[in-house]
Amino acid sequence: MRYIEPHAHMVSRTTDDYRQMALMGCVAISEPAFWAGWDRSTADGFEDYFRQLTEFEPRRAALYGIKHYTWLCLNPKEGENRKLAREVVERIPKFLDRPNVLGIGEIGLNRNTLNELETFRDHVRLALDHRQLILIHTPHLEDKHKGTRLIVEALLSFPGIEPSRVMIDHAEEHTADMILSNGFRTGLTLYPETKVSLARAVDIVETYGFDRIYVNSACDWGHSTPTAVPQFMMEMRRRGHSDESIRKVVFENPIAFMRQSPHFVTPAGELESVPVGAA
Ligand SMILES: [Zn+2]
Repeated sequence: MRYIEPHAHMVSRTTDDYRQMALMGCVAISEPAFWAGWDRSTADGFEDYFRQLTEFEPRRAALYGIKHYTWLCLNPKEGENRKLAREVVERIPKFLDRPNVLGIGEIGLNRNTLNELETFRDHVRLALDHRQLILIHTPHLEDKHKGTRLIVEALLSFPGIEPSRVMIDHAEEHTADMILSNGFRTGLTLYPETKVSLARAVDIVETYGFDRIYVNSACDWGHSTPTAVPQFMMEMRRRGHSDESIRKVVFENPIAFMRQSPHFVTPAGELESVPVGAA
């Protein structure tokens, strides 16, 4: 079965990972801009990263028959630096026309500070001004619930926000309802140690249904599993879910979200009938 990996930091992964994902049926990857593991010192450093995401990485993915998409921002972990954030936000628009850019992300909060919240608002404004999709990171710390609430409230304070054009990722049992009941889309991140296990992810899908939800590996330079989505598919199958249900979560739902961007190319085949923005 074909699938889409909607959240992977491939700049940190090897070509073997691309190969393995392709062998398991991955046809497209979306890569949000991310923290490098250290704080970048200048806006020039971000420009170089954006060039890597929009020039080099799509070529590398294409070698394995995988379509590569990306999202641009200054990530939440560096959002505390307001001066740098303003400089980076100013430089993003010139990259938005690049053919693999789907929107602004992953933005959000890390420690739920006022400065982070201001940087988050700057990015939301940028997305709305340029009619971009939004991909959101929620904090992994113990205050995920508070962070998610602050993010949802901040988003809803923008009159122009369209919840179906916003993905709020890294949801868990205690945040999925807050996200979905406000009309946003949500993602579950499958990590080997922290975040959501395969069994918990299937539990959450069974609880909240198959609409407006997708799963991802969020693989990066830390301990993570690039093939977590196919493992989730196996867990769904083991628990008796139909191919149609599995396909909806791992293929149709990412497409329904991403194809709201004019840069997204729907994989050839049977999905042309999925309406733009459908659940
Ligand atoms: Zn990420």
